Amino acid sequence: MTHNQPDDADARRAIKPVICYPVETLPHPDMALYTQARRDLRKIDEVLVPPRDAKSFSVPAGHFFRISSVEGSQVGDLNLWNANDLSERFYSGKTRALHGTHITKGQQMWSSFPHLRPLATITHDTLDWYGIDDFGGSVHDVIGTRCDPYTHHLLKGGQYHHCCHSNLTRALAAHLDVPLAEAEPHVHDVLNVFMCTGFTRDTGQYFMKASPVRPGDYLEFFAEVDLLGALSACPGGDCSAEHSSDVASCHPLLVEVFAPKTDVLRARADNHANGYDRTHGL
Ligand SMILES: [Zn+2]
Repeated sequence: MTHNQPDDADARRAIKPVICYPVETLPHPDMALYTQARRDLRKIDEVLVPPRDAKSFSVPAGHFFRISSVEGSQVGDLNLWNANDLSERFYSGKTRALHGTHITKGQQMWSSFPHLRPLATITHDTLDWYGIDDFGGSVHDVIGTRCDPYTHHLLKGGQYHHCCHSNLTRALAAHLDVPLAEAEPHVHDVLNVFMCTGFTRDTGQYFMKASPVRPGDYLEFFAEVDLLGALSACPGGDCSAEHSSDVASCHPLLVEVFAPKTDVLRARADNHANGYDRTHGL
Protein backbone atom coordinates (compact mmCIF):
# COMPACT_ATOMS: atom_id res chain seq x y z
CA MET A 1 0.00 0.00 0.00
CA THR A 2 1.32 3.46 -0.84
CA HIS A 3 1.27 6.38 1.58
CA ASN A 4 -1.35 9.13 1.48
CA GLN A 5 -0.40 12.15 -0.60
CA PRO A 6 0.57 15.30 1.29
CA ASP A 7 -1.63 18.38 0.69
CA ASP A 8 0.98 19.98 -1.53
CA ALA A 9 1.66 16.84 -3.63
CA ASP A 10 0.68 18.49 -6.92
CA ALA A 11 2.80 21.53 -6.19
CA ARG A 12 5.82 19.33 -5.45
CA ARG A 13 5.31 17.39 -8.68
CA ALA A 14 4.94 20.59 -10.67
CA ILE A 15 8.47 21.77 -9.83
CA LYS A 16 10.45 22.00 -13.05
CA PRO A 17 13.51 19.74 -13.37
CA VAL A 18 17.04 21.03 -13.77
CA ILE A 19 19.67 19.32 -15.87
CA CYS A 20 22.09 17.40 -13.61
CA TYR A 21 25.10 17.96 -15.79
CA PRO A 22 24.79 21.06 -17.98
CA VAL A 23 27.28 20.46 -20.78
CA GLU A 24 27.91 24.05 -21.83
CA THR A 25 31.30 23.88 -20.13
CA LEU A 26 32.15 20.43 -21.50
CA PRO A 27 35.07 20.67 -23.94
CA HIS A 28 33.50 20.33 -27.37
CA PRO A 29 35.12 18.13 -30.00
CA ASP A 30 36.32 20.01 -33.07
CA MET A 31 33.62 18.64 -35.37
CA ALA A 32 34.66 20.89 -38.26
CA LEU A 33 38.10 19.29 -38.19
CA TYR A 34 36.64 15.76 -37.99
CA THR A 35 34.19 16.50 -40.80
CA GLN A 36 36.98 17.74 -43.01
CA ALA A 37 39.22 14.76 -42.13
CA ARG A 38 36.53 12.15 -42.88
CA ARG A 39 36.20 13.42 -46.45
CA ASP A 40 39.43 11.66 -47.38
CA LEU A 41 39.67 8.26 -45.75
CA ARG A 42 41.57 5.12 -46.70
CA LYS A 43 40.24 1.80 -45.45
CA ILE A 44 42.95 -0.18 -43.64
CA ASP A 45 40.97 -3.02 -42.08
CA GLU A 46 37.57 -4.61 -41.87
CA VAL A 47 35.97 -7.25 -39.68
CA LEU A 48 32.66 -8.98 -40.35
CA VAL A 49 30.91 -9.85 -37.09
CA PRO A 50 28.84 -13.02 -37.54
CA PRO A 51 25.29 -13.17 -36.15
CA ARG A 52 25.07 -14.18 -32.44
CA ASP A 53 28.82 -13.77 -32.12
CA ALA A 54 31.39 -11.04 -31.51
CA LYS A 55 34.73 -9.99 -32.95
CA SER A 56 37.43 -7.68 -31.69
CA PHE A 57 39.11 -4.94 -33.72
CA SER A 58 41.83 -2.37 -33.21
CA VAL A 59 41.74 1.31 -34.13
CA PRO A 60 44.86 3.47 -33.80
CA ALA A 61 44.39 6.92 -32.23
CA GLY A 62 43.50 9.46 -34.90
CA HIS A 63 41.74 6.91 -37.11
CA PHE A 64 38.04 6.43 -37.78
CA PHE A 65 35.91 3.31 -37.52
CA ARG A 66 32.48 2.59 -38.85
CA ILE A 67 29.84 0.02 -37.82
CA SER A 68 27.50 -0.78 -40.72
CA SER A 69 24.29 -2.71 -41.12
CA VAL A 70 24.63 -5.34 -43.84
CA GLU A 71 22.10 -7.87 -45.09
CA GLY A 72 19.35 -7.01 -42.58
CA SER A 73 18.24 -5.01 -39.57
CA GLN A 74 20.52 -5.88 -36.66
CA VAL A 75 21.68 -4.26 -33.44
CA GLY A 76 25.19 -4.42 -32.00
CA ASP A 77 26.68 -4.25 -28.51
CA LEU A 78 29.93 -2.29 -28.45
CA ASN A 79 32.73 -2.41 -25.87
CA LEU A 80 35.73 -0.06 -26.08
CA TRP A 81 38.99 -0.13 -24.16
CA ASN A 82 42.17 1.92 -24.17
CA ALA A 83 44.26 -0.61 -26.13
CA ASN A 84 47.29 0.12 -23.92
CA ASP A 85 45.46 -0.17 -20.58
CA LEU A 86 42.30 -2.27 -20.42
CA SER A 87 41.41 -0.81 -17.00
CA GLU A 88 40.40 2.34 -18.91
CA ARG A 89 37.18 1.42 -20.65
CA PHE A 90 33.90 2.86 -21.82
CA TYR A 91 31.77 4.25 -18.98
CA SER A 92 28.18 4.10 -20.17
CA GLY A 93 26.73 5.51 -16.93
CA LYS A 94 28.73 8.73 -17.03
CA THR A 95 28.25 9.04 -20.80
CA ARG A 96 24.50 8.83 -20.12
CA ALA A 97 24.73 11.43 -17.35
CA LEU A 98 26.54 13.83 -19.68
CA HIS A 99 24.82 13.26 -23.02
CA GLY A 100 21.47 11.64 -22.22
CA THR A 101 19.97 8.21 -22.83
CA HIS A 102 21.01 7.91 -26.48
CA ILE A 103 24.02 9.33 -28.29
CA THR A 104 24.60 10.57 -31.81
CA LYS A 105 26.94 12.71 -33.95
CA GLY A 106 29.02 15.20 -31.98
CA GLN A 107 28.76 13.27 -28.71
CA GLN A 108 31.48 11.22 -27.10
CA MET A 109 32.04 7.88 -25.41
CA TRP A 110 33.69 8.68 -22.05
CA SER A 111 36.11 6.46 -20.17
CA SER A 112 36.11 5.10 -16.62
CA PHE A 113 37.70 6.81 -13.58
CA PRO A 114 40.30 8.06 -12.96
CA HIS A 115 40.51 9.02 -16.61
CA LEU A 116 37.07 10.35 -17.59
CA ARG A 117 38.10 11.47 -21.04
CA PRO A 118 36.68 10.78 -24.49
CA LEU A 119 37.63 7.40 -25.93
CA ALA A 120 35.74 8.03 -29.16
CA THR A 121 33.69 10.76 -30.80
CA ILE A 122 30.69 9.97 -33.02
CA THR A 123 31.40 11.64 -36.36
CA HIS A 124 28.50 10.37 -38.50
CA ASP A 125 25.12 8.77 -37.85
CA THR A 126 22.82 7.89 -40.73
CA LEU A 127 19.98 7.35 -38.21
CA ASP A 128 20.20 10.88 -36.81
CA TRP A 129 16.84 11.62 -38.46
CA TYR A 130 15.03 9.29 -36.02
CA GLY A 131 14.95 11.61 -33.01
CA ILE A 132 12.64 10.54 -30.17
CA ASP A 133 9.47 8.67 -31.20
CA ASP A 134 6.00 8.79 -29.62
CA PHE A 135 6.91 5.98 -27.20
CA GLY A 136 9.96 7.87 -25.97
CA GLY A 137 12.22 5.53 -27.94
CA SER A 138 15.44 6.53 -29.65
CA VAL A 139 18.50 4.91 -31.22
CA HIS A 140 22.03 4.05 -29.95
CA ASP A 141 21.37 3.81 -26.22
CA VAL A 142 23.60 3.97 -23.19
CA ILE A 143 20.78 2.89 -20.85
CA GLY A 144 20.81 -0.84 -21.45
CA THR A 145 23.57 -3.06 -20.17
CA ARG A 146 24.21 -6.00 -22.50
CA CYS A 147 22.15 -9.15 -22.75
CA ASP A 148 23.78 -11.74 -20.52
CA PRO A 149 23.33 -15.36 -19.45
CA TYR A 150 23.08 -14.53 -15.74
CA THR A 151 19.97 -12.36 -16.08
CA HIS A 152 18.59 -14.85 -18.57
CA HIS A 153 19.06 -17.65 -16.06
CA LEU A 154 17.37 -15.63 -13.30
CA LEU A 155 14.34 -14.88 -15.44
CA LYS A 156 13.96 -18.00 -17.53
CA GLY A 157 16.45 -20.60 -16.34
CA GLY A 158 18.54 -22.62 -18.72
CA GLN A 159 21.95 -22.03 -20.23
CA TYR A 160 22.16 -19.71 -23.23
CA HIS A 161 25.68 -19.10 -24.50
CA HIS A 162 25.27 -16.48 -27.23
CA CYS A 163 24.19 -13.42 -25.25
CA CYS A 164 26.27 -10.35 -26.04
CA HIS A 165 28.09 -10.68 -22.70
CA SER A 166 29.32 -14.18 -23.61
CA ASN A 167 30.04 -13.20 -27.20
CA LEU A 168 32.15 -10.24 -26.04
CA THR A 169 33.90 -12.43 -23.46
CA ARG A 170 34.87 -15.02 -26.09
CA ALA A 171 36.03 -12.32 -28.52
CA LEU A 172 38.20 -10.59 -25.91
CA ALA A 173 39.65 -13.89 -24.65
CA ALA A 174 40.59 -14.82 -28.20
CA HIS A 175 42.19 -11.43 -28.82
CA LEU A 176 44.19 -11.47 -25.59
CA ASP A 177 44.83 -15.22 -25.79
CA VAL A 178 43.72 -15.65 -22.18
CA PRO A 179 41.17 -17.94 -20.50
CA LEU A 180 37.51 -16.83 -20.52
CA ALA A 181 37.60 -16.19 -16.75
CA GLU A 182 40.42 -13.70 -17.24
CA ALA A 183 38.67 -11.87 -20.07
CA GLU A 184 35.18 -11.72 -18.57
CA PRO A 185 35.81 -9.00 -15.91
CA HIS A 186 36.92 -6.62 -18.68
CA VAL A 187 33.54 -6.83 -20.43
CA HIS A 188 31.41 -3.83 -19.53
CA ASP A 189 28.12 -2.07 -20.23
CA VAL A 190 27.84 -1.25 -23.87
CA LEU A 191 26.82 1.30 -26.42
CA ASN A 192 23.78 -0.36 -27.98
CA VAL A 193 24.47 0.47 -31.60
CA PHE A 194 21.31 0.78 -33.77
CA MET A 195 19.12 -0.44 -30.89
CA CYS A 196 15.84 1.46 -30.41
CA THR A 197 14.97 1.71 -26.73
CA GLY A 198 13.46 3.83 -24.02
CA PHE A 199 11.65 3.67 -20.71
CA THR A 200 7.88 3.15 -20.50
CA ARG A 201 6.13 6.20 -19.07
CA ASP A 202 3.76 4.18 -16.86
CA THR A 203 6.19 1.76 -15.18
CA GLY A 204 9.59 3.20 -16.06
CA GLN A 205 10.67 -0.15 -17.53
CA TYR A 206 13.36 -0.50 -20.14
CA PHE A 207 11.78 -1.28 -23.49
CA MET A 208 13.05 -2.15 -26.94
CA LYS A 209 11.35 -2.07 -30.32
CA ALA A 210 12.25 -2.98 -33.88
CA SER A 211 15.37 -1.07 -34.88
CA PRO A 212 14.91 1.41 -37.74
CA VAL A 213 18.36 0.42 -39.08
CA ARG A 214 18.54 -0.87 -42.64
CA PRO A 215 21.45 -2.21 -44.70
CA GLY A 216 23.69 0.70 -45.65
CA ASP A 217 23.13 2.59 -42.41
CA TYR A 218 26.19 3.20 -40.30
CA LEU A 219 27.53 4.81 -37.14
CA GLU A 220 31.03 6.27 -37.41
CA PHE A 221 33.54 7.14 -34.70
CA PHE A 222 36.85 8.94 -34.35
CA ALA A 223 39.34 7.15 -32.08
CA GLU A 224 40.62 9.66 -29.51
CA VAL A 225 43.11 7.10 -28.12
CA ASP A 226 44.45 3.75 -29.32
CA LEU A 227 41.34 1.60 -29.10
CA LEU A 228 40.60 -2.05 -28.70
CA GLY A 229 36.96 -2.66 -29.58
CA ALA A 230 34.67 -5.66 -29.49
CA LEU A 231 31.29 -5.78 -31.18
CA SER A 232 28.57 -8.39 -30.69
CA ALA A 233 25.80 -8.93 -33.23
CA CYS A 234 23.07 -9.34 -30.61
CA PRO A 235 21.00 -12.55 -30.62
CA GLY A 236 17.98 -10.23 -30.47
CA GLY A 237 18.52 -9.36 -34.15
CA ASP A 238 16.54 -6.13 -34.71
CA CYS A 239 15.26 -6.51 -31.11
CA SER A 240 11.60 -6.41 -32.14
CA ALA A 241 10.63 -9.43 -30.03
CA GLU A 242 13.15 -11.14 -27.77
CA HIS A 243 16.82 -11.58 -27.10
CA SER A 244 18.86 -14.21 -25.24
CA SER A 245 17.58 -16.95 -27.53
CA ASP A 246 17.96 -18.28 -31.06
CA VAL A 247 14.42 -17.17 -32.02
CA ALA A 248 15.11 -13.81 -33.71
CA SER A 249 16.53 -13.65 -37.22
CA CYS A 250 20.03 -12.24 -36.99
CA HIS A 251 22.44 -10.65 -39.42
CA PRO A 252 26.14 -9.80 -39.47
CA LEU A 253 27.54 -6.35 -38.76
CA LEU A 254 30.51 -4.85 -40.56
CA VAL A 255 33.30 -2.95 -38.80
CA GLU A 256 35.65 -0.92 -41.01
CA VAL A 257 38.72 1.01 -39.91
CA PHE A 258 39.90 4.05 -41.87
CA ALA A 259 43.04 6.18 -41.87
CA PRO A 260 42.51 9.88 -42.64
CA LYS A 261 45.04 11.87 -44.67
CA THR A 262 44.78 14.64 -42.09
CA ASP A 263 46.72 14.20 -38.86
CA VAL A 264 43.76 15.18 -36.71
CA LEU A 265 45.54 14.63 -33.41
CA ARG A 266 48.28 17.05 -34.42
CA ALA A 267 45.88 19.55 -35.99
CA ARG A 268 43.83 20.11 -32.88
CA ALA A 269 44.84 22.06 -29.82
CA ASP A 270 42.79 20.47 -27.02
CA ASN A 271 44.23 18.17 -24.41
CA HIS A 272 41.80 15.49 -23.21
CA ALA A 273 43.58 14.49 -19.99
CA ASN A 274 41.38 14.93 -16.90
CA GLY A 275 42.75 17.59 -14.55
CA TYR A 276 41.52 16.26 -11.18
CA ASP A 277 44.54 15.86 -8.85
CA ARG A 278 43.29 12.58 -7.25
CA THR A 279 44.17 13.64 -3.67
CA HIS A 280 40.50 13.07 -2.64
CA GLY A 281 40.69 15.57 0.23
CA LEU A 282 43.67 14.07 2.06
ZN1 LIG B 1 22.59 -8.55 -26.91
